Amino acid sequence: MAASLPAANRGPADDGGPRAIEVVADPVVLRAEVLATRAGGRRVGFVPTMGALHAGHLALVARAAAECDEVAASIFVNPTQFGPNEDFAEYPRPVAADLVALAGAGVRWVFAPQVEALYPPGHATRIVVDGPAAGFEGAIRPGHFAGVATVVCRLFQAVPADAAYFGAKDWQQTLVVRRMVRDLGLPIEVVVCPTVREPDGLALSSRNAFLSPADRRRAVALAESLALAAAMWPTAASVAAIEAAMRAHLEAGGVAVDYATVVDAESLGPACDTAAAVALVAGRLGSTRLIDNRLLPPHGPRPMSEANR
Ligand code: AMP
Repeated sequence: MAASLPAANRGPADDGGPRAIEVVADPVVLRAEVLATRAGGRRVGFVPTMGALHAGHLALVARAAAECDEVAASIFVNPTQFGPNEDFAEYPRPVAADLVALAGAGVRWVFAPQVEALYPPGHATRIVVDGPAAGFEGAIRPGHFAGVATVVCRLFQAVPADAAYFGAKDWQQTLVVRRMVRDLGLPIEVVVCPTVREPDGLALSSRNAFLSPADRRRAVALAESLALAAAMWPTAASVAAIEAAMRAHLEAGGVAVDYATVVDAESLGPACDTAAAVALVAGRLGSTRLIDNRLLPPHGPRPMSEANR
């Protein structure tokens, strides 16, 4: 299946003329097109998404468009990364608006497969990543990262791009994807792009649309707790004290906290002063679950205090 929409992107020979975006459902068809394009010497970038696009997704597309000759994006709400009591059925699917946004952003191909195209009847193969997938989201959402790794690997088969673009918003996911790509020797470069935020600091998320107006106001507590961590990180405060302050701020803001932690940015093990750390938060406002994070640069040994002596 292929459908066309007008696009403001470059013509095939960079002639400046408008070109139709191609919506492709068949992974075999798209794979052949991407490989032919690369064989012609053109660099292809790929942005996997679950749709309900916002400025965070479009920033990934913009980065891919800046670094590549052609951009593919996928829209696929992946059932295997949702738990049985999660919001797969309710997940927003504004496909027409998404296609207009991608057409205007310079995307050439949109991969929008049916579930059966990625998961054939009787499918029995899963990619299970240990290491960075073990804690936090992996602990709270059993099977989530196996679903992510499996679908990302499957998407990379359909879109054998030079580079794939992911958001730092899902920090643990970037670690899982990078580890899978390394461990399986997948021939694709993983590029991690900064988190795009609302003016008050809330990280853009397709799930923000589910927040009531009151919960939307409370949601700023996530970014504020990360700012607190960033301010305390280079001081004499211990990791335990930083985590307690983050949690207290979230709870005072009405967030039901799943975790509020500071860990090593690469291993997600204990943080140390001489390597980058990451502050990770996850919590619920009403029935909406949000996650966010902030990188904390290495700062050398802290001044000694009672707490960290
Ligand atoms: P999703 O559609 O939620 O699966 O996200 C698709 C991609 O967009 C993932 O790589 C996300 O990390 C990324 N993304 C989601 N929200 C943001 C954001 N606020 N800023 C940057 N990237 C984001």
